[in-house]
Amino acid sequence: MSKPDDTMEKLVSLCKRRGFIFPSSEIYGGLKSCWDYGPLGVELKRNVKEAWWQHMVRRRADVVGIDCSILMHPKVWETSGHLAGFNDPMVDCKTCKARFRADTMESQVCPKKPSKRPGECDGELTEPRQFNLMFKTSMGPVENSDSVVYLRPETAQGIFVNFKNVVDTCRMKPPFGIAQQGKSFRNEIVTENFIFRSREFEQMEMEFFVPPAEADKWYEFWRDARYAWFTDLGVNKDKLRLREHDSDELAHYSKCCADIEYEFPFGWKELEGIANRTDFDLQRHAEATGRDLRFFDDQSKERYFPHVIEPALGVDRATLTFLVDAYDEEELAEGDTRTVLHLHPSLAPIKAGIFPLVKKEGLPEIAHNLEDELRSEFNVFYDQSGAIGRRYRRQDEVGTPFGITIDFDTKTDQAVTIRERDSMAQERVALDQVKNYLRGRVLPEQA
Ligand code: ATP
Repeated sequence: MSKPDDTMEKLVSLCKRRGFIFPSSEIYGGLKSCWDYGPLGVELKRNVKEAWWQHMVRRRADVVGIDCSILMHPKVWETSGHLAGFNDPMVDCKTCKARFRADTMESQVCPKKPSKRPGECDGELTEPRQFNLMFKTSMGPVENSDSVVYLRPETAQGIFVNFKNVVDTCRMKPPFGIAQQGKSFRNEIVTENFIFRSREFEQMEMEFFVPPAEADKWYEFWRDARYAWFTDLGVNKDKLRLREHDSDELAHYSKCCADIEYEFPFGWKELEGIANRTDFDLQRHAEATGRDLRFFDDQSKERYFPHVIEPALGVDRATLTFLVDAYDEEELAEGDTRTVLHLHPSLAPIKAGIFPLVKKEGLPEIAHNLEDELRSEFNVFYDQSGAIGRRYRRQDEVGTPFGITIDFDTKTDQAVTIRERDSMAQERVALDQVKNYLRGRVLPEQA
């Protein structure tokens, strides 16, 4: 597999050209670090979220979902520590006015002299100052200090403040989890690497509440299960590693934490964090509100704060990982190359291309009938223009796992040719069996 250094450039260009991801407000010159998902991108992102939801919620009796509002009571962020402590240190260059994160200077460059690090050029840097990453806005018609609300910087707090609601309404008992997917906002000082770090992004987080004595066991369980989720969805094991945090890296409330890291073309970076958050959040919210957020175990008659294991993943970062990992430029025998996304079939935005060999002699009618039949379950794409080889290649480039060709023989043998994206092998399948064929190969249950 060839992964040249310019993979990111090529991928960004493919994403734009084929309708995966566009810069936000592009006709106005774009808005830095904000991105819009196009028709193929939105399908891919939905499939990533669906694969996570299936794995974390639907297939588990001990996890339920929730969908909280983005705007929450401002006291939530005071209690969680975000108001006082969700900061990154920032330095400014007095000469060129560029702004940097003081803790990652070694990976940043001077915008005026890209061969130099900030401060190693002629510019003079300010002392680091703490910069709070939460976006502020105001609620209601009058803007004053009482109307300040924040766009949530993580989805987790919505889960903690609803802990009691879920326990009381769903009769959940530790060990159990509450999962959420949704937008989060961070006014990052530096945004970078396409959708890897942006100011508006989506997260998928799950808080798993456990009896304190079981915390270590569940931490290991979720750390390993989350790693396996990526490899089961086809991510290359050589590019994926688990890194346990050293004690000096841990957040003050966290007992242990591991990052799942991926080797992007721009280096090893955090993809997902799995943390033992102890009982910090529930304790703090209980103290701040005066509500008893302990769990009452009616068997042991014990009342206690469960400890929490949290796997936290960014949807956009996961989507980027699947795209980067799937991207390939393959040398074919004839000496030409094809660009192909080896996406897991359950993630692929289009599951099958439907190609009548010619635009006449009844083949388009048969193809459209098949398209109608498949569309009720699968996102398929009908294409009758151009040579068949070119139609295959266009679908390879967007990761479509199957190409279905309706040819002259179809009229007599009631069968089609299905070509598989990765091996390019072809097989003949009866027309009335195509739906079953796809069911067996592309549904999320495969993951
Ligand atoms: P980083 O060190 O990269 O800033 P973090 O440790 O602050 O990340 P968490 O607060 O643990 O991140 O958030 C959980 C996950 O949310 C991250 O692992 C990442 O996948 C995603 N995430 C966090 N910040 C961003 C962002 N600005 N853009 C896209 N995804 C993000």
